[in-house]
Amino acid sequence: MKVKYNLINKDRNTEARYGKLETNYGTYETPMFMPVGTKATVKLLTPDELYEVHAGIILANTYHLWLRPGGELINKAGGLHKFMNYKGPILTDSGGFQVFSLAKPKDITEEGVKFKSHLDGSNLLLTPEESIRVQNLLDSDIAMSFDECPPYPVTHEYMEKSIERTLRWAKRGKDVFNNPNQSLFGIVQGGEFEDLRKKSALETVKIGFDGYAIGGTSVGEDKDTMYRMIEYSTKYLPTDKVRYLMGVGEPLDIIEGVIRGVDLFDCVLSTRIARHGNAFTRNGKINLRNLKYREDFSPIEDTCDCYCCRNFTKAYIRHLITSDELLGGRLLSIHNTRFLIRLVEELREAIKENRVLEYREAFIRQYQSK
Ligand SMILES: [Zn+2]
Repeated sequence: MKVKYNLINKDRNTEARYGKLETNYGTYETPMFMPVGTKATVKLLTPDELYEVHAGIILANTYHLWLRPGGELINKAGGLHKFMNYKGPILTDSGGFQVFSLAKPKDITEEGVKFKSHLDGSNLLLTPEESIRVQNLLDSDIAMSFDECPPYPVTHEYMEKSIERTLRWAKRGKDVFNNPNQSLFGIVQGGEFEDLRKKSALETVKIGFDGYAIGGTSVGEDKDTMYRMIEYSTKYLPTDKVRYLMGVGEPLDIIEGVIRGVDLFDCVLSTRIARHGNAFTRNGKINLRNLKYREDFSPIEDTCDCYCCRNFTKAYIRHLITSDELLGGRLLSIHNTRFLIRLVEELREAIKENRVLEYREAFIRQYQSK
């Protein structure tokens, strides 16, 4: 089936939305934070641990899986869900973001993007058609259109040409898309330019997709510019389709995104910072390597319901991290992922009760209190 978004409540004072997303693997509430499993694994976490932190949709990266082990092999295994044994919905990106970081400007053409594999240096070409073909093989629940990811900043003239090409690529991808169990999302680009965000959003909606993403944010712009980019995009998107802000997952950015009408977020941050000994807390980020936790026999957060906080102390996690024991990164990955999922759970309640702005104020006051 195609994903189906039902808007249940809209906050009275902001654009924040509480909704439900029907998928092949059940119905999930939004706003939602989606953990990232680049190579068909959310780093260090088993599927059971993902269910335990109440993960819904998880992400996988088409570029990495295309190169290794390949879309054909995963298709032979029965698709991505069977291959990695995840019984929840999976979203795959288009691979565009990775190949743009590997390609030189002259290698970006109307046909697609030429680049060298990060694995063996071989010459490869990723086109809108190939991206969709591979995602069809992976059999994720949500596939993404192949879009140009321009650097920041670029001129208005460059960005206008870029969004026009992204629109042509979106049409080409949709034309070859042929997996009836999968949904296809379009991507709004346009940088910080309101007129181009508007044009990109309206034209993408005209092509017609099952959901819409906002791309090209968190690429080096300041926070206020990023929040404006989100506003310029969501206000031109239909209210009956789900909206996804790509690659954004700092706690404060999730709150600001929700306030501007975004439903889905993803970010590698929760597991990446964990592997470096960092934990999200209500009082800001902390590093467990810090000497002050040496004899701290309390959990990372008293109020957190995760496996890590229910069973282990900061002193023990600090010991694991400073001894390079892998369990330390695992426990912090569980906590950090649960932290962001609890954040969106609380935002859902705040939306239902029309108190999103009060929630933001209280969260920021505590988060920046340190
Ligand atoms: Zn916890």
